[in-house]
Amino acid sequence: MTLIFEKSFERTLSRLVGQAKPGQDIEAWTFDDRQSRREAELKLGEKGIRARIRSAYKPLVNAFLEEIDLEGVEAIEIRYPVHPNAPDNRFRLEAYPLAAIVGDRKIDFFARGDSEFHYDVLLKSAAPGERLVKVLAPNRVHIDAAGETSVSPTGWLVTESGTAGARLPSDYETLFEDAIAAVTGHDWGTTEPYFGELNIRVTLPAADEALPVGDEVMSLREALHEDFYFSLLEFFQKKSGRPLGDRGLKPGQIVPEIVQSEGDISVRIETKPLSTGFSDGPQQQIDVAEEPLAAEQIEAELDAIGGVPFEATTRSGRTVRARYIKGRDAAVMISGGQHANETTGGAGALRAARRLAALDGAHFTISPLENPDGYALHQRLRKGSPRHMYHAARYTALGDDLEYRTEENSGAYLCEKKIRIQAETLSGAQLHVNLHGYPAHEWTRPLSGYVPRNFAMWTLPKGFFLIARYHSGWATQAEQLLDKVTRHLGAIPGLLDYNNRQIALYETHAGETGFRIINGFPCLADIDDRHSVPMTLITEYPDETIYGPEFIAGHTAQMETVLSAYAAWQQIMASS
Ligand SMILES: [Zn+2]
Repeated sequence: MTLIFEKSFERTLSRLVGQAKPGQDIEAWTFDDRQSRREAELKLGEKGIRARIRSAYKPLVNAFLEEIDLEGVEAIEIRYPVHPNAPDNRFRLEAYPLAAIVGDRKIDFFARGDSEFHYDVLLKSAAPGERLVKVLAPNRVHIDAAGETSVSPTGWLVTESGTAGARLPSDYETLFEDAIAAVTGHDWGTTEPYFGELNIRVTLPAADEALPVGDEVMSLREALHEDFYFSLLEFFQKKSGRPLGDRGLKPGQIVPEIVQSEGDISVRIETKPLSTGFSDGPQQQIDVAEEPLAAEQIEAELDAIGGVPFEATTRSGRTVRARYIKGRDAAVMISGGQHANETTGGAGALRAARRLAALDGAHFTISPLENPDGYALHQRLRKGSPRHMYHAARYTALGDDLEYRTEENSGAYLCEKKIRIQAETLSGAQLHVNLHGYPAHEWTRPLSGYVPRNFAMWTLPKGFFLIARYHSGWATQAEQLLDKVTRHLGAIPGLLDYNNRQIALYETHAGETGFRIINGFPCLADIDDRHSVPMTLITEYPDETIYGPEFIAGHTAQMETVLSAYAAWQQIMASS
């Protein structure tokens, strides 16, 4: 273990209370939960100071939750800024999920011609008419950890009413900057991986606030985990000389643990050895499993399916287990858990495999947990806040995406990728059904430009999404496959309604779609020669953070996708 950095921080709210002078009127924007801000206002009131402390994170949504009275309001028009250093729809995205919070009221968004950091909110009533409310959205333009120019929310303080006020460097921002500087200033040498686990333990007195819309939640701790994880990956990416977005980097396992405190704010950064083993939960009846399966159960379910076992070993020494069921059908590769915080794919793959194995002539491989090192980390992190998306568990203990490994870029670290290579060699499959998921609620990076860089497409949920990637010459089969699978999925009770609700809210806040809809399902179909199997069907279920009936609905949709893709593939291959 090596300690890299340790520091405590004065709470911004405490400083405001300590420094304000009796008789002052102050308005502040900080990164704090609602209750903490109300408590600080009360303390300031006791000192004879009139104070309003607002959220610097998602200020428009919080203004509607905390301040704007919608009594009698029938329609809402929101005019948002467009900044040259941010995506055009950045401030419209940040208003998510307002359209669902305001109920049946008509809501329209309009881009303004300027980049000033505020929203103009027009509230229209039958009588007495209209009210115009200006909602400040304090932001700053800065160079972030990846060396990119970002427009990010920031603390703000107005001590004289009528004046513009000034930036208030907040505890949340200062902690992040100091911690990033400590990691980027450390001597990591030149050989990847640089560490086993790089642990960033933060204590932060911020409670999550559930929103009355789907799985949505206001969570400063979750957002900080996401920004730490991706900012540090981007730093190591830049250090390696690889371009942003290149997936060959292998720094080691980066683990931000953002823990709720009673009031103190601190960070401790250290390197640790990798963990081994799992922190399994209970055994469940798989068809109605309400949470991610225990690793031990995944192994037992695989045993029950039978076939020829094959394996690979991860960096930490955990085993990736798979099976080959040899038969007369056109072979199909089935996999789940490549990204270990996407939780419905593994259960869906196993449920489908058990049904396929009972068919005469069945021919497939099944590898339900491709990234056990990520899965073990996800189990560990979920014990703290089960509803956080934890992208630190997306990749392997090498900090990379196993799918992108090749003999050339990975050599001795091919590890988990060997399970794919064996599956293809054993079966000769020409279709790979690769089960994935994505966040079931908004995913943000508040301190690095807000919209997750390189993942803007997945920042908001937008239904059960299917992607076909195929070699040139396979476009017809790809279209046939998407048509057959989406027709089958459309018969699942409630799934089309679920898609329609999410897609409508997504369109209102993104201002565009950028995908096709096939039989009610958002889809993409593209030529891609990166995979060696000619046809890959990728599922994307909004499953990061769901449990209970929502989790069952998720792995059922995954299972039905595998079953229908398998049946469709037999027809497609027989007729071509
Ligand atoms: Zn994924």
